[in-house]
Amino acid sequence: MKKIKVTIWNEFRHESQESDAGAYIRSFYPDGMHAVIAKNIAADNLDIRCATLNQPEQGLPEALLQDTEVLLWWGHAAHKEVKDTLVDRIQKRVQAGMGLIVLHSGHFSKIFKRMMGSSCSLRWRDVGEKERLWCVDPSHPIAQGVPETFMLPYSEMYGEPFAIPDDGKVVYMSWYEGGNVFRSGVCFQRELGKIFYFAPGHETYPIYHDENVCKIISNAVYWAAPAKIFPERETHEKVPTEKITSVKPEPKL
Ligand code: ZN
Repeated sequence: MKKIKVTIWNEFRHESQESDAGAYIRSFYPDGMHAVIAKNIAADNLDIRCATLNQPEQGLPEALLQDTEVLLWWGHAAHKEVKDTLVDRIQKRVQAGMGLIVLHSGHFSKIFKRMMGSSCSLRWRDVGEKERLWCVDPSHPIAQGVPETFMLPYSEMYGEPFAIPDDGKVVYMSWYEGGNVFRSGVCFQRELGKIFYFAPGHETYPIYHDENVCKIISNAVYWAAPAKIFPERETHEKVPTEKITSVKPEPKL
């Protein structure tokens, strides 16, 4: 069985901090959010690796990136530390076909902003309010096996206007207790690569323990996985497919 090669990249700073806040986050993410996501989406046909910012080459040496078919990205406090050269390499890999799943505060990551070409700004508020998600496309592969609507008892509010391009296909909308709404699950295609942005996942709530959230992320991995990746694409067709009988006019000097 061919396995999909998945890499979960996590900044892993909030969970590592030496403070009461860090200890609280570690109470439900003792080994980091990436470890819980990896455990909750595990399947026989997925080969899941985890990577974190503090590792050599910021967790994504070229060999690992070239061996990744779907990349998950969680970042927040250290977006600026991610090297532009790494962002260039990830962008190239997405353009060649790698799937990219951007989670929660990854909306402000360099790679998501690069792929969107917009600021990706949004409205936010963190008071631990209820979030209700609604599926707006029940036929979409990412929505399969997930109830039409479900609730997260405590969440950080992400609200419209969300500065993403209009070519996004919305699969989930969220409503928050305070009255805001948000496009919380949106699909894009950039060249050969599929991208899914999914909003739930604030680090101070155990959101990646929620089975519906994890089912959506798991579905997104299968949806974003490419049939094939095309790292080198020939752009100059020296030999035409059909015989050309036209004669190029000579420039008149
Ligand atoms: Zn957050």
